[in-house]
Amino acid sequence: MSEKPTVEQYQKYIQDRDFHAIKCKSCGAVIAPPKGMCYSCGGRDLEWVKVSGNGKLVSFTVIHVAAEEFQDEAPYFVGIIDLEEGTRITARLLDLDPNDPSKVQLGMPMKLDYQTGKSGRVYLGFRPA
Ligand SMILES: [Zn+2]
Repeated sequence: MSEKPTVEQYQKYIQDRDFHAIKCKSCGAVIAPPKGMCYSCGGRDLEWVKVSGNGKLVSFTVIHVAAEEFQDEAPYFVGIIDLEEGTRITARLLDLDPNDPSKVQLGMPMKLDYQTGKSGRVYLGFRPA
């Protein structure tokens, strides 16, 4: 019997700096954040998998007006990372300066990292690999 993956558990993995996605046992699709069923085949037999954290940058934007957690740090980049396992994650880009955008290129390899907000909460981030 497999435990149904929840968003709460997903968040707990992030707080523990141990990022996990869910994997569909029927077709192998990797999904994050978790949903009740596989977006690819509709399967409901899902399990947690640890992902490599390796991916490529597919899109990015600059955040000027930040959430309170990161107000002091704006402006900064937020991007979409295409993980090698096949799922896409939206997260902050670390070690890249919006005042020097020439260093940011679509398709550049990125590596999962974490950052802590003012509240002490841990968030996903990605830095150049
Ligand atoms: Zn599936």
